[in-house]
Amino acid sequence: MNHLLRIATILGLTAVSAGAFAAEPMCRSPHTMGIQLLGSGGPISDDARASSGEVIWIDGKSRLLIDAGGGTYLRFGQAGARLEDLHFIGISHFHTDHSADLPAILKGAYFMASDNKVTLAGPDGSDAFPSMTAFFKDMFGGKTGSFAYLEGLRDGSDGLHLTVSPIVDVDRHAEKPSLVYQDAEVKVYAYGIPHGDVPTLAFRIESKYGTIVVSADQNGTRQGFVDFAKGADILVMPAAIDDDADAASKFLHAPPTVVGKLAAAIHPKVLVLNHFMGKSLRNKDANVKIIQQYYHGQVYEGRDLSCFEMPDGK
Ligand SMILES: [Zn+2]
Repeated sequence: MNHLLRIATILGLTAVSAGAFAAEPMCRSPHTMGIQLLGSGGPISDDARASSGEVIWIDGKSRLLIDAGGGTYLRFGQAGARLEDLHFIGISHFHTDHSADLPAILKGAYFMASDNKVTLAGPDGSDAFPSMTAFFKDMFGGKTGSFAYLEGLRDGSDGLHLTVSPIVDVDRHAEKPSLVYQDAEVKVYAYGIPHGDVPTLAFRIESKYGTIVVSADQNGTRQGFVDFAKGADILVMPAAIDDDADAASKFLHAPPTVVGKLAAAIHPKVLVLNHFMGKSLRNKDANVKIIQQYYHGQVYEGRDLSCFEMPDGK
């Protein structure tokens, strides 16, 4: 059994039937990269799951945070993730289920054991949604920000031990992936994906251990996403709606048939589903079967705190 599957099994996960919460978060192995779902639910609390958020672990350290939806503040702590170890935060879009807990998580910067600096990247803005820069200013800007008492996050001043810089607004219309962060161990690319008319990004994380692609909400109609995600060892896709969802839902989200076709075209080693909602949870087994008509690799139904690590030897 390869390492990834072994870890999943340790956590009580089996293909297409994830177990209960991990009693012990298990995404801290050295010499590999893993992704831990902080939240596996949608924007409504009736699914009894935290909203979207993922920590990328590299060599046992919580290096990247992708999204910070409602509930991920608690899961971030339960996962054992540390602000001291983070190098990058990416926000896919400014729906509450992907961004509402960002201030709550960053507030911990008052109480860090050591100083740190983190790059923050998100989409550019539209008439209806802020850019990453504008969102940060709305939250933490001096005098006018909702949480202006955390203004020191800009430069690690005022008793805060975290500097959030640079802040990157990604051109979601760019034809090529945008390199948004790079250091000796990881490269992070962002790419615009069609989530109705909401400016939204997918993220691709490359390290010497392999590649993880996290798609946030999207309707699956941008062909370039397939190229963006090709070569992924692990692909994370939302399972938000059913095939019989109405047109408005399908403008925002990909139904199982589309998720299955995308996964088949991308052909990752492992497909992890997240962003379940009340109705898609009720129809989960049927929806997974639809996806498996197209994609024949391993499919995992993510749960809060589920961890997926790379195969050995990468
Ligand atoms: Zn959304």
